[in-house]
Amino acid sequence: MSGPTLLWLRRDLRLGDHPALTHAAARGPVIPVFIRDDEVRGLPAAPALRLEAALGALSKRLEGLGSRLILRSGEPVEVLRGLMAETGADLVVWTRRYDPQGKESGAAVKAAHPAESYPGALLAEPWEVKTKTGGDFKVFTPFWRALSARGIAPPRPAVSPPAPSQWPASEALADWHLSAPMNRGRAVISAHIRAGEEAALAQLDTFAGQHLADYGDARDQLGQAACSGLSAALACGEVSPRQVWWAASGQSGAEAFQRQLAWRDFAWHLTWHSPHMLSDNWREGWEHFPWNQDATRPEVQAWMQGRTGVEIVDAAMRELHLTGTMHNRARMLVASYLTKHLMTHWRIGAEFFAEHLVDWDPANNAMGWQWVAGCGPDAAPFFRIFNPETQAQKFDPTGAYRARWLAPDSGFFDAVPRRWGLTPDMPAPTPVITLKQGRERALSAYHDMRNGRQVY
Ligand SMILES: Cc1cc2nc3c(=O)[nH]c(=O)nc-3n(C[C@H](O)[C@H](O)[C@H](O)COP(=O)(O)OP(=O)(O)OC[C@H]3O[C@@H](n4cnc5c(N)ncnc54)[C@H](O)[C@@H]3O)c2cc1C
Repeated sequence: MSGPTLLWLRRDLRLGDHPALTHAAARGPVIPVFIRDDEVRGLPAAPALRLEAALGALSKRLEGLGSRLILRSGEPVEVLRGLMAETGADLVVWTRRYDPQGKESGAAVKAAHPAESYPGALLAEPWEVKTKTGGDFKVFTPFWRALSARGIAPPRPAVSPPAPSQWPASEALADWHLSAPMNRGRAVISAHIRAGEEAALAQLDTFAGQHLADYGDARDQLGQAACSGLSAALACGEVSPRQVWWAASGQSGAEAFQRQLAWRDFAWHLTWHSPHMLSDNWREGWEHFPWNQDATRPEVQAWMQGRTGVEIVDAAMRELHLTGTMHNRARMLVASYLTKHLMTHWRIGAEFFAEHLVDWDPANNAMGWQWVAGCGPDAAPFFRIFNPETQAQKFDPTGAYRARWLAPDSGFFDAVPRRWGLTPDMPAPTPVITLKQGRERALSAYHDMRNGRQVY
């Protein structure tokens, strides 16, 4: 007879469509464990806040089912070794991760303990989607065709983990203070968080029933709630991408939505095959581009503080400070303004997003920034520079989005760091550079780079 199984949870905080849990439960008692390792300790502020909410929700759900979430701190190999000795567990299982850090910690546990890893984080494993010649994809549309042609397996039903006869001790989530770095933003952003698997599934249901049919037409409109809002739940693994895919299948609007969902798989496919995308220019030649790399410059600070004087950019940055998220179209606009009009390195923007986005996903974030900046895979060419004003007319035609987030009583001034010294009665900011000047400067730098070295 086998001993209990340790279910090592990382970014798969759910019970439904969870192959590692299904396997563990089929063997017998399951001990769900979450480990606060160095990576968790080093998480940026908003993702840590969101993780705390997700862990709290999962813990409550498990307790309702007669199970528990065991919390321990330390290095995974040693924590799991200790738990195996304490509980008689003879196997560790987990859901695979595809970033270098996640792969490395999984490999270390496999080398030290009887262990098995399972899929569950993506629609397809990154090595399963191949070009006709067996290679990996660098362009989205053929990736999408190959992924959808394979067919996506239906999600597995939720499993209630069978309890062991004795539980090991757990640390208390409140003692971890995961959300402390959010400071003033904590209460403001927490009000927008709907954590947990049940909340995610309810949101998916509402989206599929009420918004999916119009998704393709309305998803770029800034003032409309046309998107699923599931990115944070996907980042924490409160819902699986297969559950999301299948909730849309067969319905009007499904393809536009599933195609967008597939961008997430594409980001992880790219990360698996070229992990340097997470921190360096994906495309060669861009090391010569004269990015500003100084985040303390006044114009970069103005961007971070939603005070560039370009209304649509400032509204979007304030949406980020007030909700911990930002509409996809707005992400593209602020990223374009930072990397092109302000000629600032995309990494500065990506790090700022990581610190402030509750849906921070390292692969989606790096791909999104590099896509906009022009140095990423399948990227928008650098010379296509969004004009924020025409974009605002097109995607916020009534001005409702700008009015909402720029309103003096939006709560923005209570959410941002006190040291910024921002007050509602401050005069409206003057743009640090005109849109025309910014565009011309960026194009000229780009042409100089191209003349020095061919990048396209
Ligand atoms: C500069 C920049 C940074 C970004 N950073 C992140 C990030 O840190 N985390 C993150 O999850 N997404 C990121 N995105 C992608 C996208 O903006 C968000 O996934 C989307 O806005 C989330 O809203 P939603 O869940 O309502 O999306 P929906 O439109 O409802 O789409 C459903 C799901 O599909 C996936 N998806 C949709 N669009 C994209 C896309 N362009 N790229 C990758 N996946 C996509 C997401 O998982 C999303 O939850 C970034 C985009 C840009 C341009």
